[in-house]
Parts: sequence; structure tokens; C-alpha cells
Amino acid sequence: MIKPAALKTQVSSGGVIFRRHDDSIEVAMVAVKGGNVWCLPKGIIDKGEVPEKTAIREVAEETGLKGTIIEKLGEITYWYYIKEENTKCRKTVHFFLMKYEGGDVSNHDWEVDEALWFPIDEALKKASYKGEKEMIKKAEEILIKTH
Ligand code: ATP
Repeated sequence: MIKPAALKTQVSSGGVIFRRHDDSIEVAMVAVKGGNVWCLPKGIIDKGEVPEKTAIREVAEETGLKGTIIEKLGEITYWYYIKEENTKCRKTVHFFLMKYEGGDVSNHDWEVDEALWFPIDEALKKASYKGEKEMIKKAEEILIKTH
């Protein structure tokens, strides 16, 4: 008999970290899955941790960049299957707009294949997941007006 999949939830937090370069706005992204998937830096919220703190920590760990939070961009939700656990996971990820303060993408985490700055329009095209594209688009709309 095939055992039905169990269900669980996960909550992560991450950031769209930006800097201004000449006249353009750049955002940092990380490559995973052998460099084929480009996504925003994020990670699981530790017990009792506020999502803002997780976002700052995970952006720093994954990209090597230090940022400060400007505002919340929103949340995305998706489902994925964890084969080893025969579990369906419903994941929510909080995203924050973050201003670059220092650090270098060459100090990215070994857990990601690469971390790079992209002009925001390129990042929009590069982002592998629809939900993350929406977060980058939202960041662009805010940044065109301010900051
Ligand atoms: P975290 O970075 O939060 O610690 P993780 O690296 O363990 O998480 P995810 O990035 O959530 O895990 O990836 C788990 C699965 O979900 C992968 O198969 C991935 O391709 C898929 N996935 C990741 N982000 C999205 C998304 N925004 N939309 C749809 N599927 C996604």
C-alpha cells in the first residue's frame, strides 16, 4: 500500500537587497541547483526570531552582503514535496526591501553556487520563480519613486 504523504509547513524570510550604481538600481541574487536556478536570498526563521532578523542574517550569510531593512515587500507561498520524508510542505516566505550597507558577493555562502549583483530589470528576467519576480517588481516600483 502506498502511504499517503504527510503535510507540514515552513516559514522563511529573505530580502531584495539593492544598491544604486551610476543611474541604475542593482539587486543581489543567488544561484542554486548547480547554478541553474536564480533566486532571492532567504532562509528558515528560527524559533522565536522575528522575520526581519532572519532576513538580515540570511542575506548576509548567503550573499556576503550587509543590509538594513527599508520596508516589507510581502509574502509568497508555494508547495513542494520532500521525497525522503514523503511529505508535502506548504512554504511561506516573507520578503523585505533592504538597502546595501557593505560587504562583497565574493564572500557568499558555500551553500549557494554563486551570488551576483544584477541591474534590476535583468534580475526580473533572471529570477526563476514567479513569486520572487513579483517581489523584485514591487521593489522596483518603490525604488523608482524613492530611496
Ligand atoms: P530555505 O532557503 O528557506 O532554507 P530551502 O533551500 O531548503 O529553503 P526552498 O528554496 O524552499 O528550500 O526549495 C524547496 C523546493 O521548492 C525546491 O524544489 C525549489 O525548487 C522549490 N521552490 C523554491 N522557491 C520557490 C518558489 N518561490 N516558488 C515555487 N517553488 C519554489
